[in-house]
Amino acid sequence: MPAQDVASQRRWGRISEQRAGQLQRQVQAKEERIVELETENAVLHLRLAQYRGTSGKGAGAAAQLCSRCPEREPPRRSAALAAPQLWRRVQALKQDTEALRASSLEVFRACREHLQDGLSEVVAAVQRAPLCHEALLAWQSKAGRLERSLQEASARYELERQKRKLLHNRLVELKGNVRVHCRIRPLLPSDEEFDGQASRDSSAPAGVVHAVDDETVLVRWDRPAHRSIHKTYSFERVYGPAESQQVVFADVCPLLTSLLDGYNVCILAYGQTGCGKSYTMLGPLSKDERGDLGIVPRAAGELFRLISENPSRSLKVDVSIVEVYNDNILDLLANERRPAVSGPPWEVPMTKATKREVLPPTRAPVRSAEDFVALAAGSLRFRARRATRVHASSSRSHLVMTATVTAAPAGGSPEDGQSLGPQLQGRPAGGRASPGSPGAQRAGEQVHAKLQLVDLAGSECAGVSGVTGAALRETSFINRSLAALADVLGALAEHRDHIPYRNSQLTRVLQDVLGGDAKLLVILCVSPCRKHVAETLRVLGFGAQARHVQRGPAGGGGDATRKPRNQ
Ligand code: ADP
Ligand code: MG
Repeated sequence: MPAQDVASQRRWGRISEQRAGQLQRQVQAKEERIVELETENAVLHLRLAQYRGTSGKGAGAAAQLCSRCPEREPPRRSAALAAPQLWRRVQALKQDTEALRASSLEVFRACREHLQDGLSEVVAAVQRAPLCHEALLAWQSKAGRLERSLQEASARYELERQKRKLLHNRLVELKGNVRVHCRIRPLLPSDEEFDGQASRDSSAPAGVVHAVDDETVLVRWDRPAHRSIHKTYSFERVYGPAESQQVVFADVCPLLTSLLDGYNVCILAYGQTGCGKSYTMLGPLSKDERGDLGIVPRAAGELFRLISENPSRSLKVDVSIVEVYNDNILDLLANERRPAVSGPPWEVPMTKATKREVLPPTRAPVRSAEDFVALAAGSLRFRARRATRVHASSSRSHLVMTATVTAAPAGGSPEDGQSLGPQLQGRPAGGRASPGSPGAQRAGEQVHAKLQLVDLAGSECAGVSGVTGAALRETSFINRSLAALADVLGALAEHRDHIPYRNSQLTRVLQDVLGGDAKLLVILCVSPCRKHVAETLRVLGFGAQARHVQRGPAGGGGDATRKPRNQ
């Protein structure tokens, strides 16, 4: 039964009860009035009898007086005069009494009619009650049926949504698009809005950036004196502030299976400083830090778990960790080559003849996830950081961790294998990967696939972060390299002939994953705060642009069903 009908049944029942009560009270009042009137009537009868007695006595006394004093005429006359007066008063009282009786009768009749009406209404209501109850039961069962069909429809909708999502992902894959996820960080005690929001109902949406569903972000800010902001963006996945590191990694995890299937994979965190890039990518790496693990340690665990599932493949992993600081590439694993952050201990020059990158960074072999994490944690001690107004420990460099998975050559051990990856040795520098790669594997090449985990430095507005001097120079380099990244993505999205990779060291380092056919996942990290809204809109715009990039042979209208390297 629809809730509306149940409510109207209940309302009707209440009205009937109220009406019966009213009538009962009216009848009671009328009965009391009748008793009062009857009492008055009796009193009046009594008084009439008294008057009659008095007038009788008066007439008797007058007659006596007249008989005793036959000579005194005047008293007899006055008694004779008083008698008609009394008579008239008696008549008037009689009339009053009659009128009273008539009106009492009228009231009584009216009361009786009301009472009868009320009673018949009550009887009718009582007779209807079982019918209402039946109708109620019928409505209830109808409501149950509707609820069940709603649940079924919701389940079917969810199924269709999941199917659509899978198909969309497949489409993204076939087109060679960049996957873009967006994560909204929670409000932090350091945020201006935190106090206001924390004191309010916790269910109220905080900040101005909201996850409408798991694919849509809404930026909404109704500003009294300015134009309101109301913009939505769609991405492959959107994480609300409450979503955990585990949930974020669950969506990243399938990419590691792709890695072992022979695809190159790059996961890149992009966003304003202080919006959760390092939290998402790294989380706490050393035991002294508290919090939930980020993508790097979880990916390391999953990588070695997958490798251990198939020991016969003899895969080995080498790790290199570099940072791009002030447009210099610094090798974080070659401590002796890194005297200070002021000078580049090594660079990635591009030779005109080959357009290939040479001089790879130090690569350390790792045999377990723990080794990987310890290496990452150790190298991060050297990463450039600085306190700004926006972030107390702002990363001032782009961090690129690369895990190269190599396979043992047929009949040999992994250690015999050539460890340099095609990205560093033999891949073309153009925007598109060569046909067939990474599916194609050249003779003698042992590189299986490469995983790049990138924690970019945050874009920032110098006015907001309040930096000066060396920090301002860093900010300028960071913003320039991020602008170069956006330019590269823009050129790729528009299928331009010239892709400006060489405009910054960051785009040079990421050239293969940006222009090649690696599986590239960009995680946009945004703050929900009002004061960061301009930067948030810029970051979301970057993500929307990145989604339009189509790379690889499929993007160029080539083979959309390319195969992974080793299949
Ligand atoms: P970024 O690397 O983008 O400059 P950080 O990752 O260092 O920013 O995050 C800034 C602060 O916000 C850190 O204190 C971090 O712990 C916190 N933070 C970021 N994202 C989250 C989140 N999803 N949940 C809880 N805290 C977060
Ligand atoms: Mg950071």
